[in-house]
Amino acid sequence: MTEQTTESLPEIARLQPRQQMAMDCARCARPLGAGGRIWGETRHRGHLFRLWVCAPHCPPRAPGGTPP
Ligand SMILES: [Zn+2]
Repeated sequence: MTEQTTESLPEIARLQPRQQMAMDCARCARPLGAGGRIWGETRHRGHLFRLWVCAPHCPPRAPGGTPP
C-alpha cells in the first residue's frame, strides 16, 4: 500500500477547536458548511483526528484586500 503524502498535515495542537472538530477548514479556518473534503488523518495524544478542508480547494484570498 502506498500512502499519498503530498501535503504535510498541520499539528493538531496548533489548530482551533473548531478546526479539530471538523467544523472549520483545517487549512484556512473558513466554516466548511456543506462542502468539504477529507484532508487526512493524524494522531494527537492518542486520538485520531480527521482533518477537513474546503472542497475542491480553499478559496484564494481577495486580491483587493477587502476584509469582511
Ligand atoms: Zn479552506
